[in-house]
Amino acid sequence: MIEINQDAFEKELASHENLVLDFYSTECPPCEALAPKFDSLAGLYGQDIRFVKIFRQQNRELAERLGVKSSPTLLFFKNREQVGDVLTGGIRRSEIMRNLDAMIDDHRVKEIRHSVKPVVTDTEVIVLGAGPGGLAAAIYLAQAKVDTILVDPLLPGGQVSTTHQVSNYPGFVDPLPGFMLAHHMAEQAKVAGAKMKVAVEINKVDLEKKEILIDGYETIRAKKILISTGASPRYLEIEGEREFHGKGISYCATCDAKYYHDKDVVIIGGGNTAVEESEFISKFASKITMIQQLPHLTANRSAQERAMADPKISMLFSHEPRGFYQKGDKMVVRVENLENGETNDILTDGVFVFVGMNPNLDLIDGPLEMDQWGYLKVDQDMRTNIPGVFAAGDVVSKQIRQITTAVSDGTIASIVITRELQ
Ligand SMILES: Cc1cc2nc3c(=O)[nH]c(=O)nc-3n(C[C@H](O)[C@H](O)[C@H](O)COP(=O)(O)OP(=O)(O)OC[C@H]3O[C@@H](n4cnc5c(N)ncnc54)[C@H](O)[C@@H]3O)c2cc1C
Repeated sequence: MIEINQDAFEKELASHENLVLDFYSTECPPCEALAPKFDSLAGLYGQDIRFVKIFRQQNRELAERLGVKSSPTLLFFKNREQVGDVLTGGIRRSEIMRNLDAMIDDHRVKEIRHSVKPVVTDTEVIVLGAGPGGLAAAIYLAQAKVDTILVDPLLPGGQVSTTHQVSNYPGFVDPLPGFMLAHHMAEQAKVAGAKMKVAVEINKVDLEKKEILIDGYETIRAKKILISTGASPRYLEIEGEREFHGKGISYCATCDAKYYHDKDVVIIGGGNTAVEESEFISKFASKITMIQQLPHLTANRSAQERAMADPKISMLFSHEPRGFYQKGDKMVVRVENLENGETNDILTDGVFVFVGMNPNLDLIDGPLEMDQWGYLKVDQDMRTNIPGVFAAGDVVSKQIRQITTAVSDGTIASIVITRELQ
């Protein structure tokens, strides 16, 4: 793999049938996450495909010409033409391999795949999940000189990365954008010495053996595992929801509210998240209809009062959505009035769904004890029922799920783990 500048790009393109170009920047956590994957794939595919890196800040002209707007961005070229996907953000090894495979013949793909050697990495603790719970644990563990690997299928930060503003995490006088708080936590964990394997594919988690398989070839073995995999937005599971997810239906205000400037929006839900996020969406949208199945909101009182006082927000109580449809470039929300059973359609530009969360445990095998909602049962030291397996944060069965409570769980688990390892 070589590093070039924009003047050398045309020559590289002309002299190599297959080329992959990585636009990177400094102080860019997703670029740091990509670098080892790019290096190792250059080793595997280097005979067939030219791997080239370019520093985006010093080669803006080429970046603009190629439509590159963020770092890292990976572009693929075959016979001088751009092909395949434009990969950005937390790029996974499997996504890169899929694009590389498409550039070469099947026979070579098989040979290359065959040549991938399994790797085994030993550590003392695997922390599954780099949200606030996992990051707090990693900070404590690494500062106590416990060899720790944090593993996450996404970039670090968890739900905090997609939270617009955080105003209740101690230590910051002014509200802090969620992604900045996540960034500070992740950097603190790295500086403490925690190793990160992020934006990876998690293929298998064996809690009994304390072993996980990532990216199809790397086994990480540990003495203890901490599960801090958090929770994800719950689906309504009604007609059209999956179909229009990302195409008119969103679960993240921070990510998508900006697309609804001066538009009409429907919000489903009436709890804390729905009401707090409605305040943020109200900065963009011209009209918001909140649909809540109960005859009242369930968010905390001050948030309720702010939402009720917002002239852009109107409430539709005792109604439940029954389906989502599209009409031209608009969304249709079919709602049922729970008091009289009548249904009617609401035409809107977009829908946000905030109806609670589900624990992220899909990839985790093992006889874990859970509560009736599928959250993990732990003792006061954050031990699960499986020896050597701990849990922390939103994935745990408890009443209050906040950043502070996740961080508290991570702290307790890490101190107990450290003592047990001594
Ligand atoms: C819109 C919104 C606004 C919020 N606002 C606030 C607020 O203002 N203040 C506050 O205190 N709290 C707020 N919260 C709640 C807060 O974000 C959570 O309580 C907190 O992030 C929980 O931290 P966690 O580490 O337990 O889990 P998460 O933040 O959910 O992080 C879990 C991590 O685990 C990863 N993961 C998932 N599956 C696996 C797997 N199989 N293996 C490895 N890793 C995995 C995920 O990718 C994620 O990075 C908000 C939540 C939302 C959704």
